Order: sequence, then C-alpha cells, then structure tokens
Amino acid sequence: MSAAEFDLIDRIRSRAGARADVVLGIGDDAAVLRMPPDRQLVVTADTLNAGVHFPERTAPADIGWKALAVNLSDLAAMAAEPAWCTLSLSLPSPAVDWIDAFLDGFLALAEHHGIALVGGDTTRGPLSVSVTAMGRVREGAALRRDGARIGDDIWVTGTLGDAAAGLSLLAAVDGGNAAHASVDAHLLQRLNRPTPRVEAGMLLAGMAHSGIDVSDGLLADLGHICACSAVGARIALADLPASSALLGAFDEAARWCFQATGGDDYELCFTAAVVQREAVMRALESAATSGARIGQIVEGRDVWAFDADGAAWTPARTGYVHFAG
Ligand code: ADP
Ligand code: MG
Repeated sequence: MSAAEFDLIDRIRSRAGARADVVLGIGDDAAVLRMPPDRQLVVTADTLNAGVHFPERTAPADIGWKALAVNLSDLAAMAAEPAWCTLSLSLPSPAVDWIDAFLDGFLALAEHHGIALVGGDTTRGPLSVSVTAMGRVREGAALRRDGARIGDDIWVTGTLGDAAAGLSLLAAVDGGNAAHASVDAHLLQRLNRPTPRVEAGMLLAGMAHSGIDVSDGLLADLGHICACSAVGARIALADLPASSALLGAFDEAARWCFQATGGDDYELCFTAAVVQREAVMRALESAATSGARIGQIVEGRDVWAFDADGAAWTPARTGYVHFAG
C-alpha cells in the first residue's frame, strides 16, 4: 500500500462516527465490537461496481450514499437495528477529493441511522465499493423470507418503479433520444439516493410473517418469499404504489413494467395476517413510511400479476439478473 492510500484511510478514520459499543475501530488489524447478550448478530454484504450497479458518471456522494443504503435495506428486511459497517474500496487512483465527496454521502446516511464505520480495505483497481453491514435483533425476531402463510396480505412500503424509470430516462439521454433536463429530479433522486426502510423494518418484527427488500424487481423478490415459504402470490398491478413523478412520465404499460420488474427500489415487501392490517398501518405511520396492500399469499408456488380487468399479465422480464444472456 502506498502513502497515498494511507492518507485516504486517515481521512476516512478522522471522519468515521463513534459508538459506545465499538471497543476498537479503524486503525488496528480488525475491529472489536461489543454485543448485548440478548441480541443476535445480523450480517449482510453488497458490492456496487461502476457501470454495473451505477452509471459511470454517478456523483461520488451518491455512490457513497447508495453503497450504504443497499446494505441498510438488507438489514431493514431482516428487521435488524443497524450497528456497524465496514467499507472496502477499490479505486483507480487514490483521489482525496473523490473520497471526501464519497464520505459526504456515505456518512450522512450512516449518521442518520447511527451506524458506525469500523474498518475496511483500500486497494487499487476498477471503481468498486463493497460494504458489510452488521445489525442486531432480539433472539428469534429476524424477519425472514420463509414465514409467509396462505391468506397473508402482501404489502410494500413507499412507491415502486421510480429508480428503474429514472435509469431508463438516463439511458434515453445517453442514446441521444432525450435531453438531460427531461430526466425527472425525483426519479433520479430515487435511483441515486434510495431510502432504506430501516425503522419500518424494525417495527414490523413480530408483526409481519415474512419480508424481503425489493432490489431486483417486485416479482422477482416476491418470488423469493414464495419459494422460501412454499406458497404462491397474487398481486394487482393497479394497487402497486406509484409516485406522481412516475405517473406523470409514463403510461400504464410502461409504469407496470417498472413497478413490477424494475430494480433498485429498496422498498420492503412483506406479508402479514389480515388481522394485522391496522397494526401494520400504525407501524408504517410511526416510521413515516407509506404502505400499500398489493395482493395475497395463496396456495401454489408462482407469483401472478393481474391487470385492472383481472387478466393475468406477463412482464417482458421479471427482474435484474446478473450474467444473464
Ligand atoms: P491490514 O493490512 O492489517 O489489513 P490496512 O492497512 O488494510 O490494514 O487497514 C488499516 C486499518 O484501516 C484497518 O483498521 C482497516 O480496517 C482500516 N481501513 C482500511 N481501509 C478502509 C476503508 N476503506 N474504510 C474504513 N476503514 C478502512
Ligand atoms: Mg487490509
């Protein structure tokens, strides 16, 4: 490692937040963390590669935000309370300006959720950001994919399809088919600065039967709940929550595609008993998150989507698949 890389780590260390349960943070060979005796550790990791998970020209602060947000979203989907994270950076060159801007985004979100950066790795290579996030849940309280029951309501938080719609508008700009000014700011914000539903996830512990975060498209991710729980699902496309930006920019057919199959939403999809409707609404309200009931868990193994006339609908694609084709 070069002196320049040590400078970067120093920079990261001087800005990383603190927590009382971090016995030893950045600077030694590994971090030492204190776990409360009655909690289970929840660990998740996600990598963002330039040109694959974000457009090459994405602002460094947005990359920083998103790299942490996608991991917090996984913790949220487990109903875990965020505690600590590590950050592994592969950078083409050790640029201090880039790191400072990256940390602006990363640490703004970290501070908001009280998660401490306790270590990582810094290497040279193509731009890639890998985060490991650790959280805690009460014994047995993690929200899993395998708990859905026949008759459960299917819910989603927030709105769906915004990020995918924003990405498609950026692609239209790159293809010379649109002006950059025509890319709606809200849709871009949803693509670059997703909101992990951490509080909602924590409040759903003990209430929801199963949950997942929507990262690869609703149908694909709901499909994981169905596969793990050995159940089927029916959803009504007309009930999928849409932002006014999405409603304003696309017709129904395009919108449904983005909402049902678009990636990068980072909303929660979860199932809960019908008797929990009021309790779920209250939980989401106190998390300042909107929620929509979009369908039911049924017998079978498949996810069925129905249009406004009750006809079965087949998307052109069901979700983002790496290495496909
Ligand atoms: P080692 O060679 O023992 O792995 P490093 O020089 O890679 O040590 O890292 C020194 C310290 O800086 C370690 O505590 C490590 O966790 C931390 N660190 C390195 N890179 C990062 C980073 N990108 N973000 C946060 N901490 C980092
Ligand atoms: Mg190292």
